[in-house]
Amino acid sequence: MSRTISGFTRTLCGPPVRKIPFLDLQPAYRELQYELDSAVTRVAASGWYLLGDELQSFEREYSAYLGTSHCVGVGNGLDAMSLVLRAWGVGAGDEVIVPSNTYIATWLAVTAVGARIVPVEPDPQTYCIERDAIQAAMTSRTRVVLPVHLYGIPADIPTIMDLCRSRGVRVLDDAAQAHGASVGGHRIGSLADATAWSFYPTKNLGAFGDAGAITTNDASLALKLRVLRNYGSREKYVNEVRGVNSRLDEIQAAILRVKLSRLDEWNRRRSALASLYTERLAETPVLLPRVPAGRVSAWHIYPVRVHNREKVRKELARQGVDTLIHYPIPPHEQHAYTDCGIALGSFPVSEAIHKEILSLPIGPHLTPEDANYVVDALTESLAN
Ligand SMILES: *Cc1c(COP(=O)(O)O)cnc(C)c1O
Repeated sequence: MSRTISGFTRTLCGPPVRKIPFLDLQPAYRELQYELDSAVTRVAASGWYLLGDELQSFEREYSAYLGTSHCVGVGNGLDAMSLVLRAWGVGAGDEVIVPSNTYIATWLAVTAVGARIVPVEPDPQTYCIERDAIQAAMTSRTRVVLPVHLYGIPADIPTIMDLCRSRGVRVLDDAAQAHGASVGGHRIGSLADATAWSFYPTKNLGAFGDAGAITTNDASLALKLRVLRNYGSREKYVNEVRGVNSRLDEIQAAILRVKLSRLDEWNRRRSALASLYTERLAETPVLLPRVPAGRVSAWHIYPVRVHNREKVRKELARQGVDTLIHYPIPPHEQHAYTDCGIALGSFPVSEAIHKEILSLPIGPHLTPEDANYVVDALTESLAN
């Protein structure tokens, strides 16, 4: 029997155990409750719920924040990626280079347009695909390189752009975990040919439901995407192409505008926790994430690698520390991709990551004191 009193669980016998939730979206809501409630009410009272002023304002504000020319709101992150590939005319016979280690959405966007997935192994500590590995995987059929800023650590988009530009290959980056991350002082979202965003509730910038966007400096791509997201129509009941219904609604846009004003502050809190983890775990046997000089992570996730993961996880749970695994099964081992015929052992870097990776709690809901408690609990579990 136990009950939670302000973050502590008191058991009938034994000392109180602190509870460190992996994620808690309520504190962020409470921090902005008045502004968020007002935003929702404002839209409800306006009588205009799709493709209106809130979306236009969010698109303008988000592209200004990133330092890019255009932002097109869509229904979710998966659509953001597949719509860009469609707008570029990528399809059967074309190859798209993706990381072997990513959330499955990246792969699904490529197969959704009928193109062939060419997985590339990530660097084992940045978790990003890097220039040399990408170059080695390129063929005459390569149309797009699709790097993922996994865990918030940005891939080196400027060097990848250099490689691709000279070969007529386009770069679309999956920034679903990288809101606010930067390379060389430029924010992710302003560097590639196009960037896909998800505002799924748990992301660094999260809506109260599904939402996504594409940012780009290419005006003609932005226009194509505006048409595609709305039934292939620019003018009501006039359909230029076979589009889809994938719109970022007014309530979500209004919520995102409020939360955007807090993104940097929330990312600073994440970064302080990450620095604390990095400093205090440096002497332990866990493998820490590496953020190369010039890159700034959004610290969506703080991933460590441990050999005896299940034992460590259980011990952390006993001490009240929630952890998650991002991700337990790589895309090529998913049932959804058995028809690709990729044999087990084909991507050893990725397979090792999936066996060892462990995400420690991080987020604006946690304090440095919480992170210190996590480090103590982890150090103790490693000693046992
Ligand atoms: C969340 C996520 C997506 C998918 O976003 P949705 O909005 O859920 O479609 C894609 N890629 C990565 C890396 C993600 O973390």
